[in-house]
Amino acid sequence: MDKVNILGVYVDMVNIPQAADRIMEFLGEDKFHAVFTPNSEIIMHAYKNAEFADLLNRAELLTADGIGVVYASKILGKPIKERAAGYDIARLVLSKMNETGHKLFMLGGKPGVAEEAQINLLKDYPNLKIVGLRNGYFKAEEEPEIVEEINASGADMLFVCLGAPKQEEWINRNREALNVRVAMGIGGSLDVFAGRVERAPEFFCKTGLEWFYRLCKEPWRIGRMMELPKFAATVIAKGKKYKQE
Ligand code: UDP
Repeated sequence: MDKVNILGVYVDMVNIPQAADRIMEFLGEDKFHAVFTPNSEIIMHAYKNAEFADLLNRAELLTADGIGVVYASKILGKPIKERAAGYDIARLVLSKMNETGHKLFMLGGKPGVAEEAQINLLKDYPNLKIVGLRNGYFKAEEEPEIVEEINASGADMLFVCLGAPKQEEWINRNREALNVRVAMGIGGSLDVFAGRVERAPEFFCKTGLEWFYRLCKEPWRIGRMMELPKFAATVIAKGKKYKQE
């Protein structure tokens, strides 16, 4: 599978349908797979933190979540055609799981959010087998019990929505202990499924301006978003070092 090296993170060159197909293949294999969808903030975090970069690169699938990553791939001479956001991939996978009967566990969000997400998802995917829910606010010592609950549910697919980089670290830390076939870190998607947060209208997503829409709606994100120009500057400055094979 073709990958582009973005500041040391090897991102798969897949679009949304290709990512969903890979995940369905993963569901058919009797082993654990991690799926992460890094945006430019997360790649910057990995650039500054080698251990986190290794953790990302250990994942079985890494997709480009955000226009910043798509542009970076162009600058680096191995263009990814379009962004493959976790939310969109998750929706497509859910529509397929609605047919195949694979079982889903959702971990994350404030108390009550996963329950609201379940209600809405079952309206869209009435045959979807949701076998467990757990909010994302727990102490470290509760982790083994949560992993046990997930394993006991018989889930094939686990959505982990703790925000980045927490969810990636959580998945990596528990990958040996989890019996699921796929664990996907999909950030704030549960809030969107629950109808608590609105996704940016299609216009903003298609034109690569989703970040601008989110900034207007959630201005406190400005601190995190300041990583974006730093990311662009680093990609341009270090581009040659990351020349593609
Ligand atoms: N969250 C959680 N546990 C935590 C911290 C965050 O479950 O300890 C949830 C939070 O409620 C929200 C999501 O993680 O639903 C983070 O969403 P955000 O949009 O900030 O993440 P992003 O998609 O930008 O990584």
